Amino acid sequence: MSISWQHSACPEWCIIDHAEGDHPDDRAHRDAGRSVILTLRVRDFVEEKLVERIVDQNLILGRWQHDGDSRVWYFLGTDDGIEYELSEASLRRLVSELQGLLE
Ligand SMILES: [Zn+2]
Repeated sequence: MSISWQHSACPEWCIIDHAEGDHPDDRAHRDAGRSVILTLRVRDFVEEKLVERIVDQNLILGRWQHDGDSRVWYFLGTDDGIEYELSEASLRRLVSELQGLLE
């Protein structure tokens, strides 16, 4: 760790090559992210008729942490602009509830 603004070493999952001149807003650790293809049922009204179709959607998952902040935020987003940044407790609740749906 040789960057003067860096308060703590990178988490093991950080893939960012930090630099001395990084803007303060960019001083965060990030992972490489991953994507999951979801098959979704989508319903739309077409000329007042409800039409159902099946589409694939890319869900992007990742995590990041401001340097010096103990909180890790978990990112869930889609290519069309839906984005959530969840606390770890929220992500754990979500995973637990999703697992419950499958039991
Ligand atoms: Zn880092």
